[in-house]
Amino acid sequence: MSSPDQAASGFSLELSADVAEMRDWVHEFARDVIRPAAGEWDEREETPWPVIEEAAKVGLYSLDFFAAQWMDPTGLGMVVAFEELFWGDAGIGLSLAGSGLAAVAVASNGTNEQIGEWLPQMFGSPGDVKLGAFCSSEPDAGSDVGAIRTRAVYDAAKDEWVLNGTKAWATNGGIADVHVVVASVDPALGSRGQASFIVPPGTPGLSQGQKVRKHGIRASHTAEVILDNVRVPGRCLVGGKERLDARLAKIADGSSGRGQDAMRTFEKSRPSVAAMAVGVARAAAEYATEYATQRVQFGRPIGQNQAVAFMLADMHAAVDAARLLTWKAAWMARHELAFTKAEGSMSKLVAGETAVRVTEQAMQILGGNGYSRDYPVERWHRDAKIFTIFEGTSEIQRMIIGRAVTGLDVR
Ligand SMILES: Cc1cc2nc3c(=O)[nH]c(=O)nc-3n(C[C@H](O)[C@H](O)[C@H](O)COP(=O)(O)OP(=O)(O)OC[C@H]3O[C@@H](n4cnc5c(N)ncnc54)[C@H](O)[C@@H]3O)c2cc1C
Repeated sequence: MSSPDQAASGFSLELSADVAEMRDWVHEFARDVIRPAAGEWDEREETPWPVIEEAAKVGLYSLDFFAAQWMDPTGLGMVVAFEELFWGDAGIGLSLAGSGLAAVAVASNGTNEQIGEWLPQMFGSPGDVKLGAFCSSEPDAGSDVGAIRTRAVYDAAKDEWVLNGTKAWATNGGIADVHVVVASVDPALGSRGQASFIVPPGTPGLSQGQKVRKHGIRASHTAEVILDNVRVPGRCLVGGKERLDARLAKIADGSSGRGQDAMRTFEKSRPSVAAMAVGVARAAAEYATEYATQRVQFGRPIGQNQAVAFMLADMHAAVDAARLLTWKAAWMARHELAFTKAEGSMSKLVAGETAVRVTEQAMQILGGNGYSRDYPVERWHRDAKIFTIFEGTSEIQRMIIGRAVTGLDVR
């Protein structure tokens, strides 16, 4: 409900009571459960199943929670939740949020029946948690999504799709219950000839390839996914065959036939990824501030030196600026305002770069302790780097923004 002041001005950055309450609840979980476990799972480089179970038990790792935040009328539910989770820890945060990307891929482009059938299977229930994975990238198709080689061929006699190929870098790849795979149905059409397919749990032919040993977010599982004659029922084509056929017919006609399911998924999820980066940056800014007021050199707290205080000033200002762009993009998406200047990409670009810079500055403020594994800042610095790489690198975000603002085919 809006306050009289809000109603008069028509503008407010105050969170709704529901979102503010949810934020405090997620923050408590991040502080009490995620943070204390973060160092251990980073060292183990394994999916933190007990933490996921704990989150499921309290209702935080659940389809209901994700759906409620995704559909929050203000648009801010998901970004506020992700900032808190990733403030706790980015690796564990991604283990809790990774299924969301697969869920968004189906929710954005799928039919109501597909949403109803598959999303619950990406989260499971307390005592029986499940995971989802979204598999778009390939060894030779990262930024260049149009170069995807994984093939989907329709077997009309059986009403089945047959998938073959190798996916790279899949979060939860191979350990997920439901995989959403982007494949080419017509390679001659590049990205416009692609579609997404749901691979149900236990489908023969899908296996995990090499698990990636990573620089950061090490509590999140990343691996290759091999698809060897994977047969899925016709109803697993996201959006359905009629829609795909109509799209391909449009292209054959010479009209545009908007394609790229993967790109649509990324567009919608970018402000959420930006919020993750804001969480990591905020954690580092807060920690360094506290440290600077406690650590004494030359007889005074190091924060009393302008060199340190000014760095802290820049860090806090940058975090707030990144959050504002993130909230703006999430709000625009919710109210179906077109991203005319690629505002989703702007939020991801600025928040990702901010996380890298701010965690580096935090490390500087902690001196030797910043470089030690006994303090969390070195982990946050390693974690932060992913935000300039996945879900579209910073260069790709700039390319998208550059195209939007110039109207030119920037390459
Ligand atoms: C931990 C992790 C988790 C991931 N999770 C997933 C997942 O769940 N699902 C999924 O599908 N993918 C996932 N990815 C893949 C990720 O999205 C890709 O790594 C990313 O899109 C970059 O692709 P690439 O690694 O092939 O780099 P490349 O595309 O080879 O890029 C290499 C460099 O070239 C630059 N570059 C490329 N093209 C251009 C251009 N046109 N103009 C300017 N610069 C350019 C890039 O910006 C980059 O600096 C994950 C990656 C990591 C590391």
